[in-house]
Amino acid sequence: MIDPKPTASHFINGAYVEDTAGRAINVVYPATGEVIARVHGATPAILEAALATAKAAQPAWAALTGTERGRILRRASDMIREQNRSLSELETYDTGKPLQETLVADATSAADALEYFGGLAGSLTGEHVQFGEDFIYTIREPLGVCVGIGAWNYPTQIAAWKAAPALACGNAMVFKPSETTPLCALKVAEILHAAGLPAGLFNVIQGLGDVGASLATDLRVDKVSLTGSLSTGRKVYAAAAEGMRNVTMELGGKSPLIIFDDANLEDAVSGAILANFYSSGQICSNGTRVFVQKGIKAAFLSRLMERVGKAILGDPMDEATNFGPMVSQRQRDIVEDFITKGKEEGARLICGGKRLDRPGFWITPVIFSDVTDNMSIAREEIFGPVLSVLDFEDEAEVLIRANETQYGLAAGVFTLNLTRAHRMVKALEAGTCYINTYNDAPVEAPFGGTKLSGVGRENSKAAINHYSQLKSVYVRMSKLEAPY
Ligand code: NAD
Repeated sequence: MIDPKPTASHFINGAYVEDTAGRAINVVYPATGEVIARVHGATPAILEAALATAKAAQPAWAALTGTERGRILRRASDMIREQNRSLSELETYDTGKPLQETLVADATSAADALEYFGGLAGSLTGEHVQFGEDFIYTIREPLGVCVGIGAWNYPTQIAAWKAAPALACGNAMVFKPSETTPLCALKVAEILHAAGLPAGLFNVIQGLGDVGASLATDLRVDKVSLTGSLSTGRKVYAAAAEGMRNVTMELGGKSPLIIFDDANLEDAVSGAILANFYSSGQICSNGTRVFVQKGIKAAFLSRLMERVGKAILGDPMDEATNFGPMVSQRQRDIVEDFITKGKEEGARLICGGKRLDRPGFWITPVIFSDVTDNMSIAREEIFGPVLSVLDFEDEAEVLIRANETQYGLAAGVFTLNLTRAHRMVKALEAGTCYINTYNDAPVEAPFGGTKLSGVGRENSKAAINHYSQLKSVYVRMSKLEAPY
């Protein structure tokens, strides 16, 4: 089993660095509540070192060929796959998510991103535009120094989803993980450098929101990519606007999952489980408003209850466990407050919401029925294992209700009617839509939100546009005329 204690708090200029003058941050294992490690938030000296070395290292990195950059990313991807078990154990220590999940969803997803963008790096180009006798060509250039700021639910994946396209395009990145899960990004940095990444190009520093805010406003920074809540997104976007910095904002959601009468019942139940209880519900794209057509409701609820009853809430390091604790006491408190509100506002709690008689931040998966659109649990992002079932009669009605949210991250439809499925996803206001599935997030597909769920896209070729810019060069071949 991996020792979760990091070598030091920060990884800067190719090496672990400590500065104990920074504010101490305890790393708590959510399954037991025990402190398993301690890091220190970045002091001004650490912040300066991270930004200065990134700035200094970036031009030489950008001057390499894309193939040379890509080779290093792909080597890092291979190393991550080789170390999947220990990295998955670390992810489990950091987040509490069961090893059964982390073995297939975290380091593997980071490896996919490094492999994919490593493969793309050699084919990043501008274009040639013939303009009569003259012509224009464009040069695709990196942005410079990018800042990544992470949420706590997918610490390995978030670090790699930001680092891989940034580095492929020739940028440097300073990454600040969430203070709740500070361990995994350090390993990503360590492996990237062991794979040959020159020093300074991927620096990881720790800290709370104030460290993130200092990074987002530094004059050397050209881009800020945040994964976090809407309220933090508003602050970071505003701070970045001051310096006209590029942004990617991956924020929250309150996504609809719509189950029609003609859906395959077992698949629909599987979809609802994946959309609400994977990672104990701590996923931004979760389909937490489960609209169920009246004809299938009774059968759906009874099968859902039966299958959720089989969730195993055990030691997360035991691969038989498939449901972990909340990441923190605070997050469990938030979930419990929503359960209280749900009951007070008239929803019917049909199962779950109980603490377990053991240390750690455990709560059993929650299903509410008879939920209506204006209840708090149907409007606000909970970020926990709370599934709300809402009834509906027909397609036109459910479409309007599904779109009645300030968020637009994801949406899902379960139906065997092909034309209805495509008609629905065309009209659903969301960055990612699912037909007869939920929460797949392969690196090949763009991922990001509409409305208040965010700005920009991660993954896929679309991410390249968010980590590079085009310079236009106009070339005149004919004689140049001037008015005088
Ligand atoms: P959070 O907004 O509290 O924190 C996110 C990060 O921002 C942390 O690293 C935090 O230290 C930092 N931060 C806080 N204030 C800041 C400031 N003023 N300036 C700069 N940085 C600051 O979010 P969280 O609780 O860690 O994560 C949960 C949220 O993240 C949920 O809303 C969830 O939906 C969202 N999320 C979105 C995606 C996505 O891809 N869309 C993925 C995962 C999580």
